[in-house]
Amino acid sequence: MKVKVRIAPSPTGFLHIGTAQSALYNWLFARKNGGTFHLRIEDTDRERSTKEYEHSILYALEWLGLNWDGEVVRQSQHGIKYRKALERLITEGKAFWCNHTKEELESERKEQGEKKEPPRHICSHRNNAMHYPASSPQRINDWVLRLAVDRDVQRKIIFDDIIRGRIEFDASLLGDFSIAKSLDDALYNFAVVVDDIDMGITHVIRGEDHISNTPKQILIYEALGKEIPKFAHLPLILAPDRSKLSKRHGAVAVVDYKRDYLPEALLNFLGAMSHTFSKELLTKEEMIEEFELSKVHKSGAVFNTEKLNWFNSQYIKKLEPSKFLELAGIDVPEKAIPLITERLEKLSDVQNFDYFWKEPEYDKELLKWKEFSLEESKKSLEESSKILEKTENNEAVRSAFDELGQKLGNRGLAYWPLRVALTGKEKSPDPIDIAFVLGKEKTLERVKKAIRSL
Ligand code: GLU
Repeated sequence: MKVKVRIAPSPTGFLHIGTAQSALYNWLFARKNGGTFHLRIEDTDRERSTKEYEHSILYALEWLGLNWDGEVVRQSQHGIKYRKALERLITEGKAFWCNHTKEELESERKEQGEKKEPPRHICSHRNNAMHYPASSPQRINDWVLRLAVDRDVQRKIIFDDIIRGRIEFDASLLGDFSIAKSLDDALYNFAVVVDDIDMGITHVIRGEDHISNTPKQILIYEALGKEIPKFAHLPLILAPDRSKLSKRHGAVAVVDYKRDYLPEALLNFLGAMSHTFSKELLTKEEMIEEFELSKVHKSGAVFNTEKLNWFNSQYIKKLEPSKFLELAGIDVPEKAIPLITERLEKLSDVQNFDYFWKEPEYDKELLKWKEFSLEESKKSLEESSKILEKTENNEAVRSAFDELGQKLGNRGLAYWPLRVALTGKEKSPDPIDIAFVLGKEKTLERVKKAIRSL
């Protein structure tokens, strides 16, 4: 059996970080097992789906390098398949029309609530063969098509989830659930099953928020007489309060990460979040090599931005210099690159190093070191200027500054004013390293400018 998996995002929003993780695990599983990974756009919600979201989903997957096999499948193009499958189930008596009103369904629900039973519809229309009133494919009033669900109270729907083990549901608790609003308006669970059958999906790997849909989908497979795929439900990505990560917790759209993060870092982070690998940093190839659905965790992991930043900083350090400059959108001498990448967690933080490409601007008060006066900073800078003028090599400059520190009776007094003069900032790499990147001329210019300001 050749493995065939898919992700099925709805284009009603940008690619969510959780869907990106599902995509990664599906992709790793397919690549590991010599199978194929497919993309299906679930665009049946015509009002909320947009082409713009669809494009951005494709774009985000491409950015992450999660290439899919074959053509993109779109549910909106499958109306005829759903209709045929629905007609077949009606003909075989496995699905039936129901036109119970909202109020009737509501009072049934209320009664069930009082008896502490789960809400469901046990439809009396099933046996008296209600006939859909017209040939019109459009929905009429309250009419829906329902699956005739086994009322045997003993019946259990059981599946062996590859990640979570055996999962059981009582079929009788599902009621005769709806599968379409009209012949041309199949509902979510029905469309998913028809498509998964049509595409020959062997393993449905998706978020655990779909577990409750799975028994319904299994009954639809049975009604259609088709083989049931294997299921694996992935843990959810959680917010710090352990609720499902959503917009109110910050950025959840993958495209929002593009500005700051490298795709390799985001993938490694998402991969390691809910799967145990032998080490922390892995290339995609290494992840493929080690990936096992059985090594996916059962419980959800909290999205930890600091951890993501750490992964990112590791990948930033490994970038080729020219690639780094391109991604960061800056132009600095090559010698400056390690000084920046050593300390960079997010690409946009490169602005903290703007003194490499523009004149620093700062309030002269910043030149003051701790309890010392501005006058003392001025003296320190005058000495610094002399050292920088006559000393050529890095080590010699360094020891001259150490001596200056001793002479001034405070090491910080030697280094702080120089740091501020060169960068205009309180935090930076070693100012002597910066001086070497800037070159003698520019360094002296900045030091003299600082002296003049005092
Ligand atoms: N459209 C569903 C979602 O985005 C996909 C469900 C599935 O994978 O079966 O959650």
